[in-house]
Amino acid sequence: MMNVSGETAVYGVIGNPIVHTLSPAMQNAAFEAIGLDAVFLAFDVPVGEAEYAVRGVRGLGIRGLNVTMPHKETVLPFLDEVDETARVLGSVNTILNHDGRLRGFNTDGAGAHHALEESGVTLAGKKLILLGAGGAAKAVAYALGREVAELVIINRTSQKADAIARTVNEKFHKKIATGSFSPDTIQKSLQDADILINATAAGMCPRQKESLVKKAWLKPDLTVMDIVYDPVETQLAKDAKAAGAHVVSGLEMLLHQGAASFEIWTGKAAPLAAMRQALLKQLR
Ligand code: NAP
Repeated sequence: MMNVSGETAVYGVIGNPIVHTLSPAMQNAAFEAIGLDAVFLAFDVPVGEAEYAVRGVRGLGIRGLNVTMPHKETVLPFLDEVDETARVLGSVNTILNHDGRLRGFNTDGAGAHHALEESGVTLAGKKLILLGAGGAAKAVAYALGREVAELVIINRTSQKADAIARTVNEKFHKKIATGSFSPDTIQKSLQDADILINATAAGMCPRQKESLVKKAWLKPDLTVMDIVYDPVETQLAKDAKAAGAHVVSGLEMLLHQGAASFEIWTGKAAPLAAMRQALLKQLR
């Protein structure tokens, strides 16, 4: 049990529901690993109450927050500043309380970028196929769209893919194609692709047998990242591994988005090994 005193800095995560969050395990392990007198708690904040939670951060002197569903968009008007990425995405997952001024950030895209980078994947000149057009997909497209040569966004609701393509294109002037889900669209786009990222909820527990990509479409010269992290190894990741592809797990993205939040709050390098171990312990 950590020593909590009157000097202990308080951090936390807000969401609804929040009971399954992995952030307290990951962030408390980080504080402990580098000997910071800080504690990280989970707060269940009902829909419509985000304003009061944010006011509470200022009122109670909470040093920083992670923000998860359903509050990532609704907290924005209550912050003093929002960084460019979070503003473009319209979504905040990290709040820093800097002497009473609340600054919003979004580290999801950086999490995906660092996870790929750490596993040796280069993005320049590559063709990326992104499945999904929800909040996480938008963050991934915005973070990686700057560097890849070509981006294809495929989503069940194709208008959402079009909207993300417009946002990325306005900023980075890239070659972006969009499509709606069909086996044909996915198979054809994969033929000359370098990187495939699943940013849909398909394959997530309890539907862990589900994958939007057939085994036969996967190949050894492909990098596959499934951002779903529960289960740790999704059906898509299993199939990609069997096909000889390079696999990057969603747990690595979760780890790196948490590490980026930690660095915003503390200004210190995140102890990745301790944080990864804490995540794995929770998920196994
Ligand atoms: P979201 O905004 O609700 O978007 C969900 C996306 O999944 C949409 O594109 C949706 O398509 C698609 N989708 C859901 N079920 C599907 C199905 N059965 N078949 C095809 N498409 C399906 O959610 P989100 O925040 O982007 O999160 C998406 C996933 O990423 C979740 O599993 C979440 O846990 C995971 N995630 C991981 C990390 C990480 O750090 N590893 C970070 C954030 C999120 P429509 O638009 O057509 O509805």
